Amino acid sequence: MVRAVTTIVGNWKMNSTVEQARSLASAIRSGLDSISDVDVAVCPPFTSLQAVCGLLEGSGIGVGAQNLHHEASGAFTGEVSPEMVAEMCGHVILGHSERREHFGETDEGVRLKVAAALEAGLKAIVCVGERLEEREAGRAECVVERQVTGALEGLTSSEGLLVAYEPVWAIGTGKAATASDAQAMMAHIRSLLSRQFGSASAGVPLLYGGSVTDENIGELVGEPDVDGALVGGASLKADVFVRLIHNAAAASA
Ligand code: PEP
Repeated sequence: MVRAVTTIVGNWKMNSTVEQARSLASAIRSGLDSISDVDVAVCPPFTSLQAVCGLLEGSGIGVGAQNLHHEASGAFTGEVSPEMVAEMCGHVILGHSERREHFGETDEGVRLKVAAALEAGLKAIVCVGERLEEREAGRAECVVERQVTGALEGLTSSEGLLVAYEPVWAIGTGKAATASDAQAMMAHIRSLLSRQFGSASAGVPLLYGGSVTDENIGELVGEPDVDGALVGGASLKADVFVRLIHNAAAASA
């Protein structure tokens, strides 16, 4: 059975000026000189994309945006289209819980963005995950199922797709899901993908996100359906992020 390549993506969120982004990117680049068996990407704020792309050119480290608008162009002040993102970089994070919570993104809005991003040739990292009260009410699986099926409705190919399971209660809290809880949800997501895309779904990287560190990454990627991680806080410190990637490579070898 084909297994998705181990993938680590850093989400810098609304952190770093252009100068700070440059120094973070170049420190990550030097620390990853010898890594070849893990796909790595970083997602800086829009304002630093160009600088980071320039610095990482030829390194094999991908660069992504953190959002886009689904329309191609027009009167959408403050927004950035899929084509604009795609001329700058190769990945985009979509449906992050912070966007759902603070900016009112819905499953339908995420679906439009995912379709537009893939159409533009971007790799779409689709984020899903339940809130604490939903987990405590025993609804985690059904919430995640609604988000996955909602975001992917109508897609006929899984090409370019990555799914990040990020339980909201684990993001930025220092309380990561256990590896076995992460695996249980990933297996559920994998079965949803398999229903929609058949055997090709085995190649879709499933990333865990939520308080991932250089210390817990090994255990997480040791699970059969956890192909990597979407990393927030720990991706802002070059030494920690580089160590995390080396540990992921060692654990998935
Ligand atoms: C994230 O924001 O996608 C995330 C997982 O954050 P953290 O690693 O800081 O929990």
